[in-house]
Amino acid sequence: MSSLSQFKTFTGSLPLLENIMPVLFIGHGSPMNGIEDNEFSLKWAELARDIPSPTAVLVVSAHWFTRGTHITAMDFPQTIYDFGGFPQALFDVIYPAPGLPALAIETAGLIKTTSVGLDHDWGLDHGAWTVVRRMYPEANIPVLQLSIDYTKDASYHYELAKELSFLRRKGVLILGSGNMVHNLRMMSWEMINGGGYDWALQISDKFKNLILNNDHLPLQAYHNLGKEALLAIPTPEHYLPLMYTLGLKTEQDAVSLFNDKAIGGSLTMTSVRIG
Ligand code: ZN
Repeated sequence: MSSLSQFKTFTGSLPLLENIMPVLFIGHGSPMNGIEDNEFSLKWAELARDIPSPTAVLVVSAHWFTRGTHITAMDFPQTIYDFGGFPQALFDVIYPAPGLPALAIETAGLIKTTSVGLDHDWGLDHGAWTVVRRMYPEANIPVLQLSIDYTKDASYHYELAKELSFLRRKGVLILGSGNMVHNLRMMSWEMINGGGYDWALQISDKFKNLILNNDHLPLQAYHNLGKEALLAIPTPEHYLPLMYTLGLKTEQDAVSLFNDKAIGGSLTMTSVRIG
């Protein structure tokens, strides 16, 4: 008998949904999107009104990149200010959404690929809170984070995501938060309000076509997509959350894009809704 069986599961008391929850990949971009009303953050708020109210939100953020896989399991996750050089107003934000330890334990149990650690130290990093607070400003929906194991490749994460599919049927919103094209070293201030280098637009088009055609294998083997892909993904942490979103797609799910825009030359805000 599993030692987890002594715990009452979170979803045990919830009905199985006929219409399963959508899954999202959100290009989070600048932390300022967490407090500024702009085309991206307003779209996040609109999206939240458009999808069923979730029972909980599970975020896979680019900014929690760990050895092994961990899930936040505290009652009250802290707001983490994992950035520098921004106005004080951003550091003054507290997003007080509760955690949900029972769901953390249950999710850890669903994942068979690896042993998932229950975390009591992290909280909500800016990849999570800047987005989720725009979607659910009342902070009345529990928010958890699942970390990304930096020792594993994209295919591993794509497959691991499938083990989370049951949560969609229980109304949990699974949200990958990163940026498909993310090269901060090459950012251009001249294009800060919009615009991308040729290579960035080219690889963005390639990513989008593959996503819309449900051709996920080349996206897992992104190293083989040419030098543009290597410029777009100099380090994988902002790309890998997309693997969780795509890995959860079923044959019945529709796929659509939003916030499809390049800014600063070498960053895309392009986001994906599945289901
Ligand atoms: Zn980021």
